[in-house]
Amino acid sequence: MTEIELERDIKSLTLEQLKEQMKSMSEKPYRAKQLYEWLHVKLARDYEEMTNIPKTLKEKCRENFSFTALSVVKVQESKKDGTKKFLFELSDGNLVESVLMRYKHGNSVCISSQVGCRMGCRFCASTLDGLERNLLPSEMLDQIYSITLLTGERVSNVVVMGTGEPLDNYDNLLKFITLLTDENGLNISQRNITVSTCGIVPKMRQLAEEKLQITLALSLHAATDEKRRSLMPIANKYSLEELMETCAYYFEMTGRRITFEYSLISGVNDTEEDVKQLSSLVGELNCHINLIPVNPVRERNYIGSDRTAAEAFKNKLEKNGINVTIRREMGRDIDGACGQLRRSHITKQS
Ligand code: SAH
Repeated sequence: MTEIELERDIKSLTLEQLKEQMKSMSEKPYRAKQLYEWLHVKLARDYEEMTNIPKTLKEKCRENFSFTALSVVKVQESKKDGTKKFLFELSDGNLVESVLMRYKHGNSVCISSQVGCRMGCRFCASTLDGLERNLLPSEMLDQIYSITLLTGERVSNVVVMGTGEPLDNYDNLLKFITLLTDENGLNISQRNITVSTCGIVPKMRQLAEEKLQITLALSLHAATDEKRRSLMPIANKYSLEELMETCAYYFEMTGRRITFEYSLISGVNDTEEDVKQLSSLVGELNCHINLIPVNPVRERNYIGSDRTAAEAFKNKLEKNGINVTIRREMGRDIDGACGQLRRSHITKQS
């Protein structure tokens, strides 16, 4: 998607940019505010809904801008905990998945950042067909807006942990965060947003320098370079040493504690040796580790560690003074049909 097209995507524009657009269309600036409110507060899906916008302006907008909207293809609901998984169709027919998790402290939505992914992690189903395209800022917002409209419930936390590598779609991700946290829009706090990355070092440094208050989650999954390389191709590019330095830098710049994601794969990364290596790797850092047994992916032959092994792994890390949680496995009964999105993850880092 080129820069020009992005400028023509009405829901990807900031209020300031929309004001400029109104100016160039010889419209009054307050029209920008009205349109912005329809788009980002009232969550309109079409110009038809915008009752205080004159017909002539609606026509001009139709000619000048694209207007993204998702349609629902499928909704699956967990009978155990009310977790809902949504399959959405984008305007060009591509499909994305999002998940709504309900917690005592609020609703959390897990969104996708790309259609497909090119990172190639061995255990992940989202990458099997490679990357199709990046999502626009509006298409990331649409997942949250659609779920809000469909459920009638407010979303308080957002995790960018669905399909795609968010830092491989950096500019659109940042624009999305700007719009999502805008006080004229849904006004979600930066602290209630988590972005998960497989570890693209230069982009992590760039993100650190933005000095946002979001949580950065790093998908670690192994504590030696050799093992990590066998699971995640990105590890061939950046060593664990560089990664850890970058995590320390992120903490230094933002004051935000890093979260490490560690998916337990039976016999692969859940041994005694792994605990030791992981403990010494993260020892010095102000961090939190999230453990989750890997979801089996049909095309791969990895099996998740069982409950006992996961508990044992957790206890040993705790003995070494490390903050660690086994994620509640939300929507376990609808996991099987997915294999792409993790359901058991962060909503709120204490
Ligand atoms: N690309 C980003 C975010 C999307 S993946 C990243 O790598 O962090 C979200 C999380 O799910 C990552 O921690 C990823 O490693 C993990 N994941 C992918 N497939 C999984 C599986 N089958 N079981 C458990 N976790 C998985």
